[in-house]
Amino acid sequence: MFDWINASLNRKIGSILAVSLSFLLIVIGYSIYQVRAINHELREISHVDIPLNEVITQVEMLQLQQHLSIEQFRLLLEKGHKSENTVESFLNRHQVITNLLNRATNLVSTSLNNDEIQFKPDQYQLILTEIYDFSDVNQEFEKQLETLLINGNLPAETWQRLELTAASLDKNIVNILGQISRLTQESAQYTEEHQRSFMLIETSLGICAFILSSLLAAYVLHVMRSRIHHIHQQVEQLHTSLEHGEPIVRPDNKGLSSSDELGELELDLKRMIMRLSDEMDTRKEVEQQLLTLATKDKLTNTYNRHKWSEQIQLLINLSEQGNTFSLISLDVDHFKKVNDTYGHQMGDKVLQELANLLQKDITKPDMVFRMGGEEFLILLTRQSVDAASKIAERLRHEIEVLQIEGLPKFTASMGVTEYHFDETEDQLMTRADEALYHSKENGRNRITVVA
Ligand code: GH3
Ligand code: MG
Ligand code: MG
Repeated sequence: MFDWINASLNRKIGSILAVSLSFLLIVIGYSIYQVRAINHELREISHVDIPLNEVITQVEMLQLQQHLSIEQFRLLLEKGHKSENTVESFLNRHQVITNLLNRATNLVSTSLNNDEIQFKPDQYQLILTEIYDFSDVNQEFEKQLETLLINGNLPAETWQRLELTAASLDKNIVNILGQISRLTQESAQYTEEHQRSFMLIETSLGICAFILSSLLAAYVLHVMRSRIHHIHQQVEQLHTSLEHGEPIVRPDNKGLSSSDELGELELDLKRMIMRLSDEMDTRKEVEQQLLTLATKDKLTNTYNRHKWSEQIQLLINLSEQGNTFSLISLDVDHFKKVNDTYGHQMGDKVLQELANLLQKDITKPDMVFRMGGEEFLILLTRQSVDAASKIAERLRHEIEVLQIEGLPKFTASMGVTEYHFDETEDQLMTRADEALYHSKENGRNRITVVA
């Protein structure tokens, strides 16, 4: 089936147009059919009913005139006169009546044969038969009358018979006329009703077409608006995430198969957001790696000299707010000998194990730095020199007793000091170096505290 929801916008609008046009075509087709039917009915009235009415009315009038002239003729005869004029005009009228009746029968029979009469054709058939009958009786009556008039032989009994027949003929023609006018009226009424219902259906269909098209258009607009709103929200979210450096929210994979233009736009946007999110993740990883490379020592994973410079400056600045800190300077004793005896690689291993030990013991916010070779600095944030000396002694002891298979035993000397308010880094470092030097001088594997 035609997948309307996922179809392109062109196809969506096209299908709405197709539906509306089909509807319109149906309405037009229906209208043509109805207009033709009504036209046919009106033609029937104007071509059959009205002329038939006229002809039969004329026949009725002539029939009356005919009877009047017969009456006149009779009166004249009684007075002993005989009018040739009356006979002649009687004969003329008789001819006209015959012609008119022929016209009427012709009109009805031709219309019936040509299927021009749709409304109650059986009734017309009946009228036709009645006109034929009337015509036959009338023909006979007039023939008799004509003979009597010409012969002038008119006994009272004959007149009476003739008058009775004439009255019955009058009744017949009035009856036919009544039927015709009733039929015409019914036909006109039927056409009028037909027209009214046609207008009603036409208006309803028009309203339906309008409502249907409007609803469809409103639905398409609503769907498009909500989808554009969704796209807009995603762009806004992306914008906010980028502006605040927050992680980009990855869109879900639902509805990624939509094939219309908006669906494609949404799909492109989702792909772009996902790619951006991937790139941001990669960038963060690279940044983290760069940060590690820039701040950490590769061999021991302790902080390096760069980080030291940054950190010591930070702590000196913080000391202005009354925060003190202490420093332990550590140097492996006779490390050269380790290298010389066990090789440089073993020397590296010793440095790594020493760093592990220090980092296990010294936790955040305190930090361990490798300043070069086998020299380390331990920065003890917010620690007094007393606390620092205890830590140093503990470390010294742990190093002394450290036993790792395949690793030579070693010791370390330390100098412990505290930062003095307003002094420089150099002043602090000199004191720490002096303390360390003192430990070395005094036999190594010991700590010296210089407050
Ligand atoms: P002291 O007790 O007086 O400190 O004696 P020491 O032998 O430890 O003194 P010195 O500073 O002269 O020796 C340090 C040695 O450390 C010299 C150098 O070869 C070695 N060294 C420096 N960096 C590294 C390193 O990364 N790995 C290894 N294996 N050895 C290193
Ligand atoms: Mg040394
Ligand atoms: Mg040294």
